[in-house]
Amino acid sequence: MDSERVHKVVIIGSGPAGLTAAIYAGRANLKPVVIDGLQPGGQLMITSDVENYPGFPDGIQGPELMELFRKQAERFDTTYVEDEVVSLDVTSRPFRVNLGSEEYQLAEAVIIASGATAKWIGLESEKKLQGKGVSACATCDGFFFRGKVVTVVGGGDTAMEEANYLTHHASKVILIHRRREFRASKIMQERVLSNPKIEVVYDSVVTEILDDGKGQRVTGARVKNVKTGALSDIPCDGFFVAIGHEPNTKIVSDILSMDESGYLLHKPDSSYTDIPGVFVAGDVHDHRYRQAVTAAGAGCMAAIDAERWLEEQAHLKAHDLILQA
Ligand code: NAP
Repeated sequence: MDSERVHKVVIIGSGPAGLTAAIYAGRANLKPVVIDGLQPGGQLMITSDVENYPGFPDGIQGPELMELFRKQAERFDTTYVEDEVVSLDVTSRPFRVNLGSEEYQLAEAVIIASGATAKWIGLESEKKLQGKGVSACATCDGFFFRGKVVTVVGGGDTAMEEANYLTHHASKVILIHRRREFRASKIMQERVLSNPKIEVVYDSVVTEILDDGKGQRVTGARVKNVKTGALSDIPCDGFFVAIGHEPNTKIVSDILSMDESGYLLHKPDSSYTDIPGVFVAGDVHDHRYRQAVTAAGAGCMAAIDAERWLEEQAHLKAHDLILQA
């Protein structure tokens, strides 16, 4: 790798936001470099059927969709680097993107599209059944549980929102929370507690997700009452984990501003951050929508912002040279 070459744009992350940024940057002739990260393709790589991404009337598998994004970006001169970013040095320009392999990339502009990671409970069965009834996204997967019984784990706003949303599809939603008090805002709690399709199981933790014996289909959740220690099985067809997301901001946590939940902040109606030349896109700054299509839209915005910013810099440089002459 030619580390000393200064790239116009380095994109950190290869989910829908990063790869859409690459498509737009590539078509702007910026020859983008995408650093794949530890999970190339992002969260869609663990999603089976995607039925809400426009343009695919029959749905598409998450990994297949990401492969198409990748090919499309490749067509416009995107280079992929199979590595993870360990730090970003913005103290001087060009910026230096340090990689796990101890290589680095130099960039005039950087787009941070490192995504967010859904928090999981950490059970073996949860991992095994992901995409087979276990999900961390009701908007993505709720539709598959029309007329069925689903459980939701969590007690914050996300859990309330997911539980309510799922009642549009499921015949019954069982919300399992590890305490008696919810962390969620009062209004969200009230919506859940007044919804006749939602039943709440308090003071309980899930110890195992049960399946059909072949590991192909969720059949229930084994829960333990934390006060009595009693175990019981709750039959269900779908199991939604809604205990929050963690934006992947470790590499920029000491250089960019974040909100109280750790999501990166940007200037209103744009992808500009506090640091000129550093842009953000996708779930790393968006806790509200968190959809592939919104992340892709944000990637497009970041690439357009970066292109315009680079053009302004080139004009400023040319102007300075004329003044010096
Ligand atoms: P959160 O507020 O951190 O809540 C996480 C919930 O999951 C808590 O109730 C927590 O229980 C539970 N939990 C955490 N780890 C667990 C585990 N291992 N096993 C079982 N339960 C576990 O996260 P969030 O709900 O995603 O919300 C994050 C932020 O986004 C908040 O600021 C929220 O207001 C905001 N948000 C807003 C909206 C909206 O306004 N429409 C929607 C979604 C999110 P404990 O309470 O016992 O800790």
